[in-house]
Amino acid sequence: MRNKASLIYLDYNATTPVDPRVIEQMLPYFHEHPGNAASHHHAYGWVAEEAVDHSREALAMLLNADPREIVFTSGATEANNLALKGIFQNYQRKGKHFITLKTEHKAVLDACLWIEKMGGEVTYLSVDHTGKVDLKALEAAIRNDTVLVSIMWANNETGLIQPMEAIGKICAKKGVLLMSDATQAVGKIPVNPRAAGVHLLTCSAHKCYGPKGIGALYVSRVQPRVKVNAQIHGGGHEGGMRSGTLNVPAIVGFGKAAEIALEEQEQEFIRIQKLRDHLEKALLEIPHVSRNGPEQGRLPNVSNLSFKYISGEALMMACKHEFAVSSGSACTSANPDPSHVLLAMGLSHNMAEAAIRFSLGRFSTLDQIEDTIKFVKKAVASLRAESPAWQLFLDGVDLRPMGW
Ligand SMILES: *Cc1c(COP(=O)(O)O)cnc(C)c1O
Repeated sequence: MRNKASLIYLDYNATTPVDPRVIEQMLPYFHEHPGNAASHHHAYGWVAEEAVDHSREALAMLLNADPREIVFTSGATEANNLALKGIFQNYQRKGKHFITLKTEHKAVLDACLWIEKMGGEVTYLSVDHTGKVDLKALEAAIRNDTVLVSIMWANNETGLIQPMEAIGKICAKKGVLLMSDATQAVGKIPVNPRAAGVHLLTCSAHKCYGPKGIGALYVSRVQPRVKVNAQIHGGGHEGGMRSGTLNVPAIVGFGKAAEIALEEQEQEFIRIQKLRDHLEKALLEIPHVSRNGPEQGRLPNVSNLSFKYISGEALMMACKHEFAVSSGSACTSANPDPSHVLLAMGLSHNMAEAAIRFSLGRFSTLDQIEDTIKFVKKAVASLRAESPAWQLFLDGVDLRPMGW
């Protein structure tokens, strides 16, 4: 058994450790520089405001955006709510129809449910077996009263990257707004909303080595200039789109995280992908293990695998002292149902429940991956030895009618 300190962390898509360089940058803004960035009448305020401006520029640089297009929020959940609800309220003259995917994060899906409750209409598009949007179905779903299409840049469970530029072209042709939850993409791969024709984009610091509780919404200012209705009122901060005293230390951390990402994401992509491929190749050598999601066109750090004839939850528990991963989605781990993403990709309940998401990151090492491979192989063998389904399979029983 390993103590907590040597527990191997492979759940970077749930959250990332804060990079020590980020912590260092943040620390002075708790005590030494305590100013409120909205205090325009003294130096404490100016120092805080300057730090916020610097971070806004750093994040804008990472997104190829104008700093005035960045609205800081408490995270991607709030940013998704602000974008969807804010657009719904502000574009009712155009219509009340929204389009999204069945495989979106709950922060998008639950905001869409709210839109439906408020009298809007939402189309939830199906995906193919890799999780990719069907572009023809998307185009066909756009109506005269469609206001916005919301499609995530990269999926948190499988890492699948959607064809954002092709989606952007369709939305531009049809004259509808395009939003993208890019929380898993930002800091891992280049994200350029303007080039992709994306008008609203959300991200979160704690998925890219910044602190928790800070995120951002990108809102396009040109072609077209997009306006969202505020959901939190009180003072008109952030261009009137999101009131509340700015969390200066967290914003400073987000800015530093963005700077590091811009500097290092290209070489990190290669290093992490190599580790991920090594892990995945070794685990796919175990009989009856399959990858969920495509081999190409996904984030470099994710491997989502189904271990047939056992449950992912049991595998995760068997290895809980060795490594930390997710089965299904951590964001909905209070919910015992199998992953809505894997079900939408056409997996059976059993195969979705047999899934484990390994997500690697900046502090993952080859040693950790080698250890993980050993632990998984051992645990799968012992769980299958106890699995009635595995025994039936060995006896030659056809288990397909039972969803295997
Ligand atoms: C983590 C995550 C969110 C939620 O972000 P928070 O900042 O934790 O609110 C939203 N969307 C995706 C795709 C995520 O991975």
